[in-house]
Amino acid sequence: MTAEHGEKIADKLRDDPGGGRKHDHVYVKWRGRIVATYGIRRSSHELPHDYISQELHVTTRQAIDLARCPLSRADYFEILRLHGHLPKMKCQSCDTEDFDREVSHETLMYNKKSHRVNLCRQCLGRARQNDRQIWKTILDKL
Ligand SMILES: [Zn+2]
Repeated sequence: MTAEHGEKIADKLRDDPGGGRKHDHVYVKWRGRIVATYGIRRSSHELPHDYISQELHVTTRQAIDLARCPLSRADYFEILRLHGHLPKMKCQSCDTEDFDREVSHETLMYNKKSHRVNLCRQCLGRARQNDRQIWKTILDKL
């Protein structure tokens, strides 16, 4: 692997498209949490950057596929998930674990207060409509 591979992977995985072009240090975030990080040695383009694949928790082959085309961002996170490198999130209301029905972290208003909650898609929809039953289960557990 080379620094160029590292750059291409950074372009593919970073979630802030407005960010700087050149990355000395790359943070791979999944739903706001850093799940992998690696540095690119700017001054040493000719030196091998094989450590990047280790930092990304994938094989060198997979990292190169990521830098080229075959492996997408979604594929990459799927590999991390399979190997237990992604944090699990639980729905605060129904206790569903992530990936059964995607759990997301949101800030919602209820009774004029903002609450930071982890909810699955279904519960989130109901919470947004101020469903009392859902809010009771959320607030009871806080
Ligand atoms: Zn739920």
